[in-house]
Amino acid sequence: MPHAIRFHQTGGPEVLCWEEVAVGDPAPGEARVRHEAIGLNFIDTYHRGGLYPLPLPSGLGREGAGVVEAVGEGVTDIKPGDRVAYGTGPLGAYSEVRCMPADRLHKLPDGIDFKTGAAMMLQGMTTAYLLLHTYPVQSGDKVLIHAAAGGVGLIACQWAKALGATVIGTVSSEAKAELARKHGCDHVILYTQEDVASRVREITAEGVAVVYDGVGKDTFMASLDSLRRRGLLVTFGNASGAVPPFDPLLLSKKGSLYVTRPVLDHYSTTRAELLALGNALFDVVLSGKVKIEVNQTYALADAAQAHRDLEARKTTGSTVLLP
Ligand code: NDP
Repeated sequence: MPHAIRFHQTGGPEVLCWEEVAVGDPAPGEARVRHEAIGLNFIDTYHRGGLYPLPLPSGLGREGAGVVEAVGEGVTDIKPGDRVAYGTGPLGAYSEVRCMPADRLHKLPDGIDFKTGAAMMLQGMTTAYLLLHTYPVQSGDKVLIHAAAGGVGLIACQWAKALGATVIGTVSSEAKAELARKHGCDHVILYTQEDVASRVREITAEGVAVVYDGVGKDTFMASLDSLRRRGLLVTFGNASGAVPPFDPLLLSKKGSLYVTRPVLDHYSTTRAELLALGNALFDVVLSGKVKIEVNQTYALADAAQAHRDLEARKTTGSTVLLP
């Protein structure tokens, strides 16, 4: 029987269990995918920990890459033998093999290997919608990207730079600062030691056009204070905890600011939207403008250790789990 990581109660990484699972033939509209690599994402820790509640027991993970073994009735554009990857699958990617809706799969271009495919889809399509749709970055824009050496961070810094932005990134250590600089950051702020908003004012005078904030609770105020008049705060994650309620009058006082709280699913709901994001990502990676840094790999059965390291801020770039 194949194995998967599942959990029966929410909690720390210790709730993750390596279990035998029955995987049958794909239902109509589904494909059975044998994973070669699985992507690790911060959202997996919110599911495991209960911040985003789920019916239990549950599988985990929304991102993977592998080979299609079989397809169900009605699936025409994906066939057995195809190399595929996905970043918006239903939970259950932490598995050796699974069935999933075929309309969430992307065909993986020949120039992209499985590890890279599993590492890049969720973080890369997130970066695509953030930089191309939520606030379309223009050449000459000054942008602030928090957790610049992380998974989304390293992709976003390179992509924003390629779009012609001046990129300011925040990180927690000198080693991460060095990495961010090598991946498109023009200015790096050590947000564990420096005052972010004052440093942003020193660098830009008027403030930045947009802040991409996946850190959440700890950076929310500094993000608002770093914006130019009528700037946009894109608060898209909670790595430090969820942002508490705030008074909208703050936005008027600080310069008629905008705030949005987007999620990838709402930018990839239709098959056409999903493929457009995936193709934009494939193009920018194949062009060499964005390099996907897979800086950690773990055995899938050791997913708990991968979660510990991610939550302890020990990882940089992207991480994959190998079945
Ligand atoms: P990362 O690889 O960026 O890891 C999170 C990083 O956040 C850490 O490396 C750390 O960098 C920083 N961080 C700051 N404070 C803390 C803290 N208290 N505990 C842990 N880490 C902290 O993860 P991902 O690239 O997977 O995700 C980045 C963010 O984007 C997450 O919040 C995630 O939920 C969000 N996201 C949102 C999506 C959406 O559509 N809304 C989709 C995908 C991701 P440092 O040490 O430099 O501070």
